[in-house]
Amino acid sequence: MPDFLWVGNHPGIDFLNTRPILEGHEVELLGDLGRLLDWCDEARILRPELRRRLEAMPTGRQRRLAGWARDLREALRAVLDPTGATDPDPASRLDALLTGTHGRLAVAVGELPALDVITTDAAGQLRLDLARVAIAAATDLEADRVRRCANPACVLVFYDVSKGGQRRWCDMAGCGNRAKAISYQRRHGRTGRRPVAEPPFTTLHGLGATYRALE
Ligand SMILES: [Zn+2]
Repeated sequence: MPDFLWVGNHPGIDFLNTRPILEGHEVELLGDLGRLLDWCDEARILRPELRRRLEAMPTGRQRRLAGWARDLREALRAVLDPTGATDPDPASRLDALLTGTHGRLAVAVGELPALDVITTDAAGQLRLDLARVAIAAATDLEADRVRRCANPACVLVFYDVSKGGQRRWCDMAGCGNRAKAISYQRRHGRTGRRPVAEPPFTTLHGLGATYRALE
């Protein structure tokens, strides 16, 4: 199973990047609860002991929880990346998914006290933690800095934190380099070999490691 992608600068944005296109095919990286928990762990939102409690749940509950997380992701996508979305009111759809979440406000005591939302139910806690990440992405970020990669064959989304706000690619080593190669070949009129720059090409394993499907 491919690694998770961390190119978005925000966990809620990289939540959207769990259904990338790899080698021309859409890949579901959150196919079951185990993968969802792996993602939460890498995103640093998985609480201690929660995995053990969730993995002890009946399979049906595990499946429903993973399905709810995927629905939450798609509702968030419709809010943040409306290209292709057909829902006229994506925020309501996102809100509707929160109907079943219940918790109470709490103060988390760490180096600095922080606001927390907790519940005793393990599945409910994971829902709350994912919902908070999704809501933060939908409400805290500057909308015009949430962008889709400029490579038309790439579906990854990122939050542009660059000073000038000119970031165009999910990953300079992958999509960015590929685009540069196209432009170089066009400028220098290389015709001796098949252009390597046509989409689709693939970013695997996130930052750095890239794979060119056509080479
Ligand atoms: Zn890209």
